[in-house]
Amino acid sequence: MAKILYVEDNPQNMRLVRKILNAAGYDVLEAPNGISGITMATNELPDLILMDVNLPDINGLEAASRLKASSVSWIPIIALTANAMHGDRENCLAAGCDGYLAKPVMKNELLNTVALFLKQSAAAHQHQ
Ligand code: MN
Repeated sequence: MAKILYVEDNPQNMRLVRKILNAAGYDVLEAPNGISGITMATNELPDLILMDVNLPDINGLEAASRLKASSVSWIPIIALTANAMHGDRENCLAAGCDGYLAKPVMKNELLNTVALFLKQSAAAHQHQ
């Protein structure tokens, strides 16, 4: 089953998303900040990364752009942000994120988005 890394500093969000993903059969890796998220992505090679934007060290967009400039640039990154402001989606995509979800996280939207990006990623790997 697919392995998903969730980079999130808020324990409540972490618990909620972990519960939703585990119930759908996904393995979840947890990182509480941007730097540990980058390290974990590099070492554990998750199939997909969910990236909170507001993190205590470097922000999620900075972490995403570092990952997209690294050896694990192929891992899809979905940004999660509470700042549902104009231009937010564009900022996420400009930083190299593949997708974007606004908080609060909705179960079906999360699962549909995760499934879509995992499917695209698997298809891309088959063509290599
Ligand atoms: Mn946060």
